[in-house]
Amino acid sequence: MSVPKNIPFEAAREIMLAHCPLAGSERVHLSQAMGRVLAENVVAAIDVPPFSRSPYDGYAFRAADSREASRENPALLEIIEEIAAGQSPSQKIRPGTAAKILTGAPIPEGADTVVMYELTEFTAERVKIFSPAREGEAIVPAGEDVRAGTTLAERGDLIDPALAGSLAAQGFCEISCHRRPRVGIISTGNEVVEADQPLPLKGAGIRNSNRYALEAASAGLGAEPVYLGRAKDDPGEIAALIEKGLEDCQMLFTSGGVSVGDYDFTPAAMELAGAEILVRGLRLKPGGACAYGRKGSSLIFGLSGNPVSAMTNFYAVALPCLRKVRGLKHFMPRRTRVTLSDSFAKKSPTPRIICGRLDISDGTVRMRASLAQGNGMLRTLAGCDVMAVIPANSPSLAAGTVLDAYFLG
Ligand code: AMP
Ligand code: MG
Repeated sequence: MSVPKNIPFEAAREIMLAHCPLAGSERVHLSQAMGRVLAENVVAAIDVPPFSRSPYDGYAFRAADSREASRENPALLEIIEEIAAGQSPSQKIRPGTAAKILTGAPIPEGADTVVMYELTEFTAERVKIFSPAREGEAIVPAGEDVRAGTTLAERGDLIDPALAGSLAAQGFCEISCHRRPRVGIISTGNEVVEADQPLPLKGAGIRNSNRYALEAASAGLGAEPVYLGRAKDDPGEIAALIEKGLEDCQMLFTSGGVSVGDYDFTPAAMELAGAEILVRGLRLKPGGACAYGRKGSSLIFGLSGNPVSAMTNFYAVALPCLRKVRGLKHFMPRRTRVTLSDSFAKKSPTPRIICGRLDISDGTVRMRASLAQGNGMLRTLAGCDVMAVIPANSPSLAAGTVLDAYFLG
């Protein structure tokens, strides 16, 4: 079968999603679990709170005892004990009696309501209640937050602060999470100089920004990036780094050498390393030049050297794949429709992606994109949180144009 060439990014995304491996699982301590993805369904073992409790400092008693209570004719109850948080009541509340109770303490047997102490008059022995209470009023029932037996969270859910707290409330200190995908990053290009190295005096070198942009993008999506090194424009050298990455990475990213120029050796290197090419180029600007492949269960994303092309291609196809490899149940990025804040001058004979900043301050979902767009203008992507898709054959766009868009997280 021939390799699909210059296809829509949505089609390429489907092809790559269909081949995504799933990261294995490991036990993770709750304090390290923020942003991790659950690898198991979690069912609540206990009610939270585990017992009915008082929401404030006051007196627990039987609502029936206050039925006739009024300012002029208060109910007068005998205080039989004090129950602080962490203490268990030792006595049952009978008609005519009350217990002093503090916030978080268990409601004693027999009591069915609590009055806050500010609404009472009291001595050490007696409390006056000035209005009728309703049964069950001002009591936090056991299981108000979570009932034993309910599903707290499912495999594929992201652990956020509230879920971490809810897991702790159950006493689950270690949970099964998907491993963070190992993502290998390879830079290629004779001209590419590592960021900590001096540029050559003659001025033909370009600092390796793709390595760091791809590391940051992968880490931001919950992966563990591994930099595998830089290869010259040489298929053997590139293939050696790909082979090294295939040993233990679920996903590999290369940058550079995927066009059809004399020095574009990455696709050949992928094949030399034993990979099958799955996609060769997208009908997309920027970021159309690419070569995707796989070997075993690992995916290889050969991206352009142009930093904006590489990142746009990453956002369009690799991002949902990485979310899937992470184990996220909802791996497709969130979609929305955005209204362009400014006009966009370029025509788009091929589909185009522009990244921008979401602005929802006035209630309309707007996207503010940089007016200058170019495939080497990486700075224009800084601060962007959304990408909008301009359909093929679009003229230049006026401010106010509405486009489909995806979040970059
Ligand atoms: P290529 O995709 O190899 O044709 O490279 C396209 C452009 O991206 C060229 O101007 C390269 O110098 C530049 N480039 C390639 N690799 C990198 C990199 N790692 N960081 C920054 N720019 C790069
Ligand atoms: Mg090159």
